[in-house]
Amino acid sequence: VRPLNAGIDIGGTSAKLGLVDGEGRVVRRSQAPTGRELAADDLVERLSGALVELLAGDPVGGLGVAAPGCRRTDGEGVVNVTNLPHIDGYPLRARLEEATGLRTVLDNDANAAAMGEYRYGDGKGAERLLVVTVGTGIGAGMVVDGAVHRVSWQGLGDPGHVIVQARGPICACGAKGCVEALASVPAIVRRAGELRGAAFPDLGTVIDAARRGEAPAVQALGEAGNHLGVALVTLTHVLGPDRICLGGGGMDAAEDLLMEPTSEAFRHHVQPFFGERVTLGRARLGNDAGLIGAAALVGG
Ligand SMILES: [Zn+2]
Repeated sequence: VRPLNAGIDIGGTSAKLGLVDGEGRVVRRSQAPTGRELAADDLVERLSGALVELLAGDPVGGLGVAAPGCRRTDGEGVVNVTNLPHIDGYPLRARLEEATGLRTVLDNDANAAAMGEYRYGDGKGAERLLVVTVGTGIGAGMVVDGAVHRVSWQGLGDPGHVIVQARGPICACGAKGCVEALASVPAIVRRAGELRGAAFPDLGTVIDAARRGEAPAVQALGEAGNHLGVALVTLTHVLGPDRICLGGGGMDAAEDLLMEPTSEAFRHHVQPFFGERVTLGRARLGNDAGLIGAAALVGG
């Protein structure tokens, strides 16, 4: 029997902590607040405190940490982090290892989510698995032959900023027409409000409106799916996946309203040689993919 591992998925407003068994089930969990202003040393103290409490003295094989941004080439931390600026470049892995006394591995959240789906979710059996998440941002990670695929910056670079509309809306990164500026949750909400002529408060209300058949909401989700499908074509022509899993809070909430236009655009634009060799599906681990994947990175 493989031992339990601990996982932490660090997000912009909170961190999820969990104890994960050998079948990828979260057997115990807790949360800790994070935030833009939080100093890195304070974050470590808060996470290690919450983890000690969660473990309650139970033995674990190790700790896996998923963090936003790109992984440092030495695997010790993350860089290019926009939502938690204080951890940019910080030696997070070693500090958490010292504070918890657990053997600790660290990766970026997209790589962790990809590993989670590969081990326990929709990516089982894939040789070249691409996992794309639609949330506040758009992330992507890949597992090839059972290992995280490290193409650039220890992952897939920053794939949310693949440009799908060169004269499109300005992105938080400064470029125009990034897929993240056109198909992320905030982008969908903004576009739906634009089309309706009155703002929507959140994605849930856009989805409700679309389910009632309201044209602006249906169109906004359709356009987002189209942009996402085009981005997937670009990633596919470069990376050659045999399986693509789509997850993240936005995809999980919108389901077919986003999945169908994405799939349609993907099939329409992909080169047949690549298209015949890849299947498209929904990620299964939902919001826990990063947490479960982080624990899976520890191995066992
Ligand atoms: Zn961008």
